[in-house]
Amino acid sequence: MEYESIITEAEEMIVSYHFIIELLHSSEPLNEVVKVSNEFVLKELEGMKKEVEITLSDAKKRQKKDWEAQEAKHKLYYNVVCPHCGTKAQLKPEQEVKQPDYLMYFLFQCRKCKKDFMPDKPNNDGDLMVWYKNLIEDIENPYKVIIRNGQIKEYKDSEVKNFKRLQADLVKKVNHSNHLHMEVQDATVALMNMIQDANKWCVIVIKELKDGTNIYGLIPKKFSFDFGNVIETEQVLIGLIETVKKRIQNPAEMPLKDGTSAETMEEEIQKIQELLQERMGNREKFLLREEEIMKLNWNEDIACQCMKCKTEFTSKPCGEGSNEEGFLFFMFECPECKDRFADQIPNNPVDHKNFHQHILETKFGTEELAQKNYEIMGTTPERVLEGREQLKVLQQKANDFNKFKEEVTESIAIHDRWLAEKIEFLKH
Ligand SMILES: [Zn+2]
Ligand SMILES: [Zn+2]
Repeated sequence: MEYESIITEAEEMIVSYHFIIELLHSSEPLNEVVKVSNEFVLKELEGMKKEVEITLSDAKKRQKKDWEAQEAKHKLYYNVVCPHCGTKAQLKPEQEVKQPDYLMYFLFQCRKCKKDFMPDKPNNDGDLMVWYKNLIEDIENPYKVIIRNGQIKEYKDSEVKNFKRLQADLVKKVNHSNHLHMEVQDATVALMNMIQDANKWCVIVIKELKDGTNIYGLIPKKFSFDFGNVIETEQVLIGLIETVKKRIQNPAEMPLKDGTSAETMEEEIQKIQELLQERMGNREKFLLREEEIMKLNWNEDIACQCMKCKTEFTSKPCGEGSNEEGFLFFMFECPECKDRFADQIPNNPVDHKNFHQHILETKFGTEELAQKNYEIMGTTPERVLEGREQLKVLQQKANDFNKFKEEVTESIAIHDRWLAEKIEFLKH
């Protein structure tokens, strides 16, 4: 049985599930709808992960057993007679060999005459069953002569009877074990499909999360502005400040370079430290500001209608999703049928404007297109015209939002350059 692939797939799935479970455990939900929805998701994920962990440990145990059985077969001693010199002996097989009859035989080496030989009979039940069948057919074929050890062999009726009994026993035994094998194999295939599906789902979810889609409605550790690098550089500078302080206190062991006086350096360090505190505070403010905006958006009650069961309800979003064009939408969960569906309008000003523009262009861009789509989209020329007016307002909102983003990006860049400069200064 092939356990290698199931072990690999199961291990991959456990790592991915662990990533999502950890994320859900360690992050704060943006509203109470998200909280309830995520508790359910967590339970599902943890249950599934546990199941696959059991499967994985089972598969590993079986794989080990298979290896051991395979090894044991070659470690056992077998009673054999060397056909070359007639010596009887107990020998371990040298190897297994498939013969032209497609059956598997052991290969032994005689200790006395050092010649290789193979016993008459194959080394496993399945092949032995076939071997008896072939032998009985040969005996019963009046045109066939059986040669054993260079002589024509005649079998007694009692011997043939015995062969038939042995063969029938083997058929039963092999069928039974094949049946068990098939059952295990069917179950394994079903499980493999399930794990593979889970892995496909994980790849999509993790990619979306890394691209910044807030699928689970969490207050993210890292916001849409990438502070990761800056935070790391801040740590480098903090480390350097500590080193230089030690040098000032202990000039004998680690003197300051270029004959810089301790007082001047102390003053410089003091200034850098104060500025760094201030800058880190500003960075923190940007984070809080974004969190604030986010919380406001995620806590607005929206009137929705379930696409599936048509129930009308008011709810905060339970998550975020992206469509084929990459626009981000809020997701809602129907209180009746628990179906999740996306909002009609993107949930941020830039996507909202782009989406609006996209619809106007692709559905109403030309007179011909418009004529076709008024009815399909359930709208009128007047409302499309209004939509074109509304685009201007959306454009303004998107511009404001982009400006805020630009401001933050620029201030991060300035902060980054300042950090690099101070690091360079303190290194000397
Ligand atoms: Zn021999
Ligand atoms: Zn519903």
